[in-house]
Amino acid sequence: MKTIVGIDEMVEARNGLEGSVGFVPTMGALHKGHLSLIERSVEENDHTVVSIFVNPTQFLPGEDFDKYPRRYEADRRICELAGVDLLFMPRREEIYGDDEVEVKAPKRKGYVLEGHYRPGHFDGVVQIVNKLFHIVRPTRAYFGKKDAQQLYIIEKMVRSFFWGIEIVPCEIVRDSDGLALSSRNLYLNEEERSRALLLSKSLKRAVKMVQEGIVESGKIKEEMVGILAPLKVEYVEIVDRDFNRLEEVEIGNTIILVAAYSGSTRLIDNIWI
Ligand code: AMP
Repeated sequence: MKTIVGIDEMVEARNGLEGSVGFVPTMGALHKGHLSLIERSVEENDHTVVSIFVNPTQFLPGEDFDKYPRRYEADRRICELAGVDLLFMPRREEIYGDDEVEVKAPKRKGYVLEGHYRPGHFDGVVQIVNKLFHIVRPTRAYFGKKDAQQLYIIEKMVRSFFWGIEIVPCEIVRDSDGLALSSRNLYLNEEERSRALLLSKSLKRAVKMVQEGIVESGKIKEEMVGILAPLKVEYVEIVDRDFNRLEEVEIGNTIILVAAYSGSTRLIDNIWI
């Protein structure tokens, strides 16, 4: 595995790769969720490129950019063992210039749910992913359903800019007790972690209700909000796969999403029905 910092060097290394190239963009502090994307890319492509870049433009003022976990040496080892060909760890000063041309998230779907509570977050996401796609020029790119709205917006971006990159959605990886893996779980103390389990618990309860024939969004959300009561809930929402609010769950076309704080850590989770 080659670790690359410079953009010119990355472009040159990419040009030297023949066949299909799978790409996994990440912010590092890699866990088994990231690893599942990397392993899938290694399996499905001739070569795999992973990027690690804690992207400042997708953090809002006051968010956790400064304290976001950085574990570059452990990450490097994880990538090497997984069979990654190129690990790209660009520098902020080289990625971002002064007074840049900007790519923006879609005006409606980029500003609901996550985009409503983190206005501008998805602008930062599409700006960086667009740059990384230009540098890496992958055949396929792997994104987790954990960040369901991000996945949706990236798919939209690929269509808007005729990227011709296949976006591969990957299942959410959870700890054995149900907690969705996230680099931000590192912030949780024991008590906060155990309360964080309420997110997945509320989603499981929602699935159970649907299985019992209760499909009204209002009833399901009310039950979920009850379960989530010990946390500061930001939103509980039931949408279709295009992120339109649903009055009733439509089997095969629904995502139930939750965002809540355990202590001062903001967590998101969702389930696809
Ligand atoms: P991040 O490093 O948080 O920007 O995540 C990089 C990629 O890994 C994104 O496509 C995420 O959706 C994905 N990812 C993060 N956590 C998980 C998880 N628990 N299961 C599956 N994919 C994940």
